[in-house]
Amino acid sequence: MKVKTRFAPSPTGNLHIGGIRTALYSWLFARHYNGKFILRIEDTDIERFNSESVNSILNGLKWLGLNWDEGPYFQTKRIKRYKEVINNMLDKGSAYKCFCSSKKIEEERKKQISEGKKPRYNRMCRNLDNSNVFNKKYVIRFKNPISGRVTFEDKVRGTITFDNTELDDFIIQRSNGTPTYNFCVVIDDLDMNITHVIRGEDHINNTPRQINLLNSLSAKVPIYAHVSMILDEEGCKFSKRTNSLSVLQYYKDGFLPEALLNYIMRLGWSHGNQEIFSITEMKKLFNLKHITKSSSIFSMKKLFWLNKYYINNLPLNYVCNYLKDYIKDENIDIKNGPNLESVFVLLRTRHDTLKEIVQSSRYFYEEFEIFNQKIFDQYFITGNDCILEKLYNKIKKMSIWNKEKLSIIINDVCVKLKMQLREINMLLRVVLTGSTCSPNITSVVFLIGREKTLLRLKRAISLIKENTIKNKIKIEI
Ligand code: GLU
Repeated sequence: MKVKTRFAPSPTGNLHIGGIRTALYSWLFARHYNGKFILRIEDTDIERFNSESVNSILNGLKWLGLNWDEGPYFQTKRIKRYKEVINNMLDKGSAYKCFCSSKKIEEERKKQISEGKKPRYNRMCRNLDNSNVFNKKYVIRFKNPISGRVTFEDKVRGTITFDNTELDDFIIQRSNGTPTYNFCVVIDDLDMNITHVIRGEDHINNTPRQINLLNSLSAKVPIYAHVSMILDEEGCKFSKRTNSLSVLQYYKDGFLPEALLNYIMRLGWSHGNQEIFSITEMKKLFNLKHITKSSSIFSMKKLFWLNKYYINNLPLNYVCNYLKDYIKDENIDIKNGPNLESVFVLLRTRHDTLKEIVQSSRYFYEEFEIFNQKIFDQYFITGNDCILEKLYNKIKKMSIWNKEKLSIIINDVCVKLKMQLREINMLLRVVLTGSTCSPNITSVVFLIGREKTLLRLKRAISLIKENTIKNKIKIEI
């Protein structure tokens, strides 16, 4: 049997973490067995359809590298096929037209609730002759078996049994003529030869209905694996109808696909205590057996940790290629500055995301106008201009530009002025980066380059001098 899985999202919102996990598990399972993975857009619910959502799904999957072998299929393009099956079912008597108005159904529902019964359609129209045509709107319902049980072996949860008395004759075609999810999904899984259905546990209740439908069509029932919910850090459900973060937002925020995939894979699946999995390893090791039954809690902290790991461990040029996209987004011109890879190497251990790295890299490429007032008041004070002048003169005279020489110069000035090295380093840092945090200052100066370093030192010296004059005038007044 050739394994064939599918990811079948409804385009009603953003592709979010829960959706990606279903897609990832289905993709990995297919790849593990050298099978096929298909993408199907379940877009028959016209009222909830959102075209942006289709883009979010396609672009999100592409960004993560979850490539599909067939599709994307769109259910709205398969309406003819659904109609054909529905007509056959009507002819065969396994489906029927139901003329009950929604008002009538609602009244019946209330009555059942008041009698303490589970509300369900009372099958009023089940035995009407199908050829009956009333001048009324109708839906088409599936004739669910009235007695007996439906049992299936869920690969995550074990044996699951439903009593047919708990299920009603569900609608397969709405009154506007469109087929419903529970129907289309069955016909598609059947036509597309899906062998394994991996999806969220919110579909468990649909499974017995779908199995009954498959049985009525004498079709083979696929293997099901229902994956547990993902809860947010507050313990609430990650819902796709609420404002769940689109997977592309993680891209915008500076996450690497490897980090997100690794994180999502571990969100409900384990291989001993192993935390880091390359994509090749994921494909090799993934199985349905080790998917957990309990819900998983989404932790941003762990995702940051993994992202930092991949930022620091994937090949330099690969990560730098990503970095270039963010540099472009932030409008940073790197043409006249240091080599991006060297800047990245200096910054990568200090940040969790590529976006942060890019934001921190600005001072290597751009001049900055405004100093934070607190920093200004603390460092742009009389006396510091002399220290900076000494550094300026020595740096200007350097015959070769290298880190070791720079380090010697800074140390010399420090000894001559009887200062602490960390004091002089901090002053340099503030003047050259505009902030009190930066990697090793000698490396920073080296990468900023002589020209820009001298320019910034000069500017700081003038600012301190101006400030000294201003303060003097204030005192004299
Ligand atoms: N379209 C359904 C959804 O987005 C999934 C259907 C399925 O996997 O069977 O929830």
